[in-house]
This record gives sequence, structure tokens and C-alpha cells, in this order.
Amino acid sequence: MPRTGHGGSTSNAGNLGVRTGSQEADAQSLLALFTSADDPYGCHVSSFGGGQFLDLAELTDDERVLRQEAHRIAVEVLRPAAWSLDRMTPMERISPGSPFFTAMATLKSLGYHRLFLPPEAGGPDQRLSALTQSVVLEELGWGSLGLATAFLVDMLPVMCMSNFGSQELKDDLMVPWVDDETGSYHGCWAITEPDHGSDFISVRDSESSTYGRAQLVAERVDGGWVLRGQKSAWVSSGPIATHAAVHAQAGGDGDLVHSLFAVVDLDQPGVRRGPPADMMGVRDDPQGEIFFDGVAVPERNVLVPPGPLYPAFQDQLLCLTSSVISNVAVGVARAAFEEALHHARTRIQGGGQLSRHKNIQLTLYGMFERVETARAYTRAALAHTQANLPGASELAAGASPRHSRAAQVFAKRIAYEVAHDALQVVGAQGLSHDALVEKLFRDARSLLIEDGTLEVLALDAARDLIDNYERTDYDLEEMMATW
Ligand SMILES: Cc1cc2nc3c(=O)[nH]c(=O)nc-3n(C[C@H](O)[C@H](O)[C@H](O)COP(=O)(O)OP(=O)(O)OC[C@H]3O[C@@H](n4cnc5c(N)ncnc54)[C@H](O)[C@@H]3O)c2cc1C
Repeated sequence: MPRTGHGGSTSNAGNLGVRTGSQEADAQSLLALFTSADDPYGCHVSSFGGGQFLDLAELTDDERVLRQEAHRIAVEVLRPAAWSLDRMTPMERISPGSPFFTAMATLKSLGYHRLFLPPEAGGPDQRLSALTQSVVLEELGWGSLGLATAFLVDMLPVMCMSNFGSQELKDDLMVPWVDDETGSYHGCWAITEPDHGSDFISVRDSESSTYGRAQLVAERVDGGWVLRGQKSAWVSSGPIATHAAVHAQAGGDGDLVHSLFAVVDLDQPGVRRGPPADMMGVRDDPQGEIFFDGVAVPERNVLVPPGPLYPAFQDQLLCLTSSVISNVAVGVARAAFEEALHHARTRIQGGGQLSRHKNIQLTLYGMFERVETARAYTRAALAHTQANLPGASELAAGASPRHSRAAQVFAKRIAYEVAHDALQVVGAQGLSHDALVEKLFRDARSLLIEDGTLEVLALDAARDLIDNYERTDYDLEEMMATW
């Protein structure tokens, strides 16, 4: 029986590490919070399609079970929670009892946070294939872009600890985090700063040495580092996270790539949070500033010290985040397409079903074509990235930045275009706050900025392809040598 977590207390469905059937008893009480008629926030659940569509990939039985399970969670947990959160004030969203915490606790109680980890870090005994990861990510994105983002930023510090952490850090922090089934731990990724948004994404820009002093600086002290400064107001889950994966410029001199990467406990003196941001989209994940006023970071929490490894690490981390978010974006696009398809089949206009009109047919076809092509490319990019990240195997020479950035740019653009077309198909109803397609449009628009703007990601990819097009492997050594 595969293991899911260090406690080894759960058994698994389909050998893939997510609880189903009788093991869901505890989770059901959490789910009931969303499905109860007494739900104080009200629910809007659109599950049209039921997760049924022809997937051109050959899924195994296990993979099919996992997709059904992830879709069920998207329908029963993520969509209702996201719908409620979207209508709440920023402070309501982060107050105790908010659907945000219940949704996160449900995902943890079901073991989703372990699903993507290697076996040695508490993941399934057999590591999830890249295809299965893509399938699950698409379902999470279909359910809620914000909650999928919260899920991913929670995993980021854990994944980095599993690769770069000392045994002591793993035992003290990673193991309880992975074993947690109630949502006691929550991570965030604190990289951008008020005056350095795109700057942190433009690692390959030859002018990056002119970007100036970072706003979060790490100073060397006995036994570790001290952090002073702040991160931007857009840190996903920043207002509620217990720990942050932090990029901080070492000493405050040189380029932004003269930085370190550390996991920082946010429940300690010197940490302060700004108010949660009130954004147009992705409102189901709270974003906010984190201030650091003399915050101690012990040496063991520094996963990547300042030095030649840091720029290569950051570049490869962006390959991973780009490949992952691109699969989530496909889920957003599919959700918008399915809303439009359902509407076109059921709305009567012009003497018959909307779907009888040629312009609607062509629009639906165009949306379908884009979702399908985005799915194919983003899956290929994630598979390449997973296989080639340093450490993935003895032969792994690094993932391709130009391909992962292209996947992110392509999938985000398609999510936006499809959501835009869906709104047009739905007509005035789609502009109403009561329409899911209206939320999907706002989310898809926000996605063009989240995790790097399309322009900056495309420029980064362009620099890589101009310099490295003929190379089939990533030149980690050259990058370290030129640091
Ligand atoms: C929903 C959401 C979630 C987010 N989550 C996180 C998170 O978890 N952690 C985190 O740290 N940050 C997060 N961010 C921040 C996000 O990464 C930044 O917003 C993004 O990188 C762009 O930075 P900026 O908003 O400061 O825009 P700017 O960098 O100011 O860019 C403004 C405009 O100028 C263009 N531009 C900027 N620089 C260049 C350049 N060098 N060349 C050409 N064009 C340029 C951009 O394309 C853009 O159109 C999130 C943002 C959003 C919207």
C-alpha cells in the first residue's frame, strides 16, 4: 500500500495518494460546510460537463480515478468556496471561519498537498507522472484559479525544502508540514517587491545589473541572516501564510541575482503584514504585503545561499512555476469554454438554440481548438520540465526556460481569449455578477499579470532562444560561471 505522508496513517485510492470512499468520512464533514443549506455565504456551483470530455492522452485507470476525484473536489469544494470568497471583503476572506481556510483544510485532509511530492518527501510511493500532475492541475484551475494558486504557493516551500533542505530542516519543518491534515501550515512565495515586480522575472536581461537595490535585504549575522524590508502587496496567500519562501538581496549590493532563497517562519517578532489587497480578479486567494523588521533567518533555513547557484536556481524555479501555472490556465480556459457551450445549447434566441447560429458555432469551435492545443503544449512543457530539472535524474541537465515561458504565455493568453469569447456567447447575462463566466473573465485577465506579465515572460524566452536555440541542454555551468 503506498504511503501518503510521514505519519503513514492514510491508505490510497488508485495508488495515487488521494483519499476516497470510506476514508473520506472526516473530509465529508468539511465538505458539508459547503453543501449545507445553511451555508452563510451561499453557493453557486456550475458543474456542467461533469469532467467528461475526450482527453486525447491515454489515461490509465488510476489516472482516470484521480481526475474524477479532482473534478469532484473542484465542483464540491473549490467552486463554492471561490464563489463565496469572490463576494467577500478582503478582511472577511482572511477571518477565521472563512471558506478559504475550509477549502485549504479539505485539500489537506484529502492529501492533495502530498500528491506532487517525491516519495522520500512524503509523496505517493510511485511518483506521480507529469501527465497525471497536468490532469490534476487542470481540474484545480477549472475549480478556482485563486484556490489553485493558494494550493501551489503552499507547496513551493515544501518542494524546495525537499530538494535543498538539510535533514534537520526537513525533520523539524518539512515533515510536520507534509503530515498536516488540518491546514495548520500554509506557504507563500515572496519574490516581487513594490519597486521590483517584473525585475525579479527578468533574470536573463543583460541590463538587470541596473535594476538597483532590492527592498528586502538580508544582512549576515552570526549563525545566519537578518531580513529588513518588504515584499509587494501581491504575494499570494501572504496575509495568512505561516511560512514564506523568500528571495532577499544579500547585503543590499550588486544585482538582484545577488540574492539568497530561504524559508522564513512568519510567526516571529519583526514580521508584519499589510492589509489584504482588494483585487479585480483572483479574489479567492488573499494577496498582501509582508514587512520584515530585523527578522532572524537561521543558516539552516537558507536553501540557496548567495553565490553562483542562485541565478540558475531562480531560472529553473521559474521553469517549474511557469510549467505548472500553464496547466492551471488550461483549466480556467476549459471552464470558460464549458460555460459558453452549455449556454449556447440551452439559450433560445433567433427562433431556436443559440448554438444553431453559425457565428456561435465558429466561436465555440475556436475556443475548443485553443483549449485543446494549449492542453497539448502545456502538458509537454511540464513533462520536459519535470524530467530535466537538476536532480530529477543523473542525466537531467536543466529544464528549457524558453519552452516553459512559452507554455505560460500561450496558456494564459488562451485562457484570456477563451474567457473573452465565452462572455460574448453568454451575452448580457455574462456581464452579471451572478454569472460564473464574469468571474472567469476577471480571473483570466488577472492571470496575464500573475506570475509575470506576458511581455516580460516573452522577452525572457526571446533572450533564451536567441542565445541558446541550438542547445538542447541548459547551460547551468555557463550561467554559474558568468555570475
Ligand atoms: C493575482 C496575482 C498573484 C500574484 N502572486 C504573487 C506571489 O505569490 N508572489 C509574488 O511575489 N508576487 C506575486 N504577484 C506579483 C506579480 O508577479 C507581478 O505583478 C508581476 O510580476 C508584474 O509586476 P508588477 O505588477 O510590479 O508590474 P511592473 O513590473 O511594474 O510592469 C508594468 C508593465 O510594464 C511592463 N514591463 C515591466 N518591466 C519591463 C521590462 N523590463 N521590459 C518590458 N516591459 C516591462 C510589464 O509587462 C507591464 O505591462 C502576483 C500578482 C497577481 C496579479
